[in-house]
Amino acid sequence: MTEPQPDPPVAPPQLEPMPEDWRRALAVVAHPDDLEYGCAAAVAAWTDAGKQVAYVLATRGEAGIDTLEPERCGPLREREQRAGAAVVGVSVVEFLGHRDGVVAYGPALRRDIAAAIRRHRPELVVTLNHRDTWDGNAWNTPDHVAVGRATLDAAADAGNRWIFPELAAQGLQPWGGVRWVAVAGSATPTHAVDARPGLERAVRSLLEHRTYIEALTDEDPETHARGFLTRVATAAGERFGGTPAVAFELFSR
Ligand SMILES: [Zn+2]
Repeated sequence: MTEPQPDPPVAPPQLEPMPEDWRRALAVVAHPDDLEYGCAAAVAAWTDAGKQVAYVLATRGEAGIDTLEPERCGPLREREQRAGAAVVGVSVVEFLGHRDGVVAYGPALRRDIAAAIRRHRPELVVTLNHRDTWDGNAWNTPDHVAVGRATLDAAADAGNRWIFPELAAQGLQPWGGVRWVAVAGSATPTHAVDARPGLERAVRSLLEHRTYIEALTDEDPETHARGFLTRVATAAGERFGGTPAVAFELFSR
């Protein structure tokens, strides 16, 4: 008679490959550096494939550096963001001018993002974790929650001519062509992109936020950037056949 064996460990559910049958993406986040910490390796792969990607930032991140007053910090972080975007093939970077740290979820934010979606007419919209916490019990910031939620909502608002009629009056016709909203940094991802081809550029893209990183950590900036992005990609890869990955939670429309 054999001893009862313990159950084998349950493999975590595997992530699906992200859809690739689209041409234009718009990434909408709260702050400079959100996309570089979140999903720049995927953006690099997309622009390599000839897809257009544009960035919209709700704020200039002017409250992000303790030692730098907002009037000086905002323009500096805007420059760092444009440089970081260029590294992964993104030349269109827009700032909505909301105040860093106190971005309010509501109709004004939804309207600004819906307007951006109508300007760029993306099939894929990308944003950052909109939930109260990151994986585990690390509290998220109110700006990420507000912008992420408003972006999920604005994907629908952009196609409705009656919700923000003032946009059509400005020449921004409804765009109902958003097929998915992909949330980076989600604790419950569903899809992924192979991070390997874009990972080195993602590191350099994050390194463009040098002033921010130097204020954030005593670690060497390159060690910090490479270490963070490699850890996250390796962890996601455990659910993507062992391939380092950028994971997204995909909401279909
Ligand atoms: Zn942020």
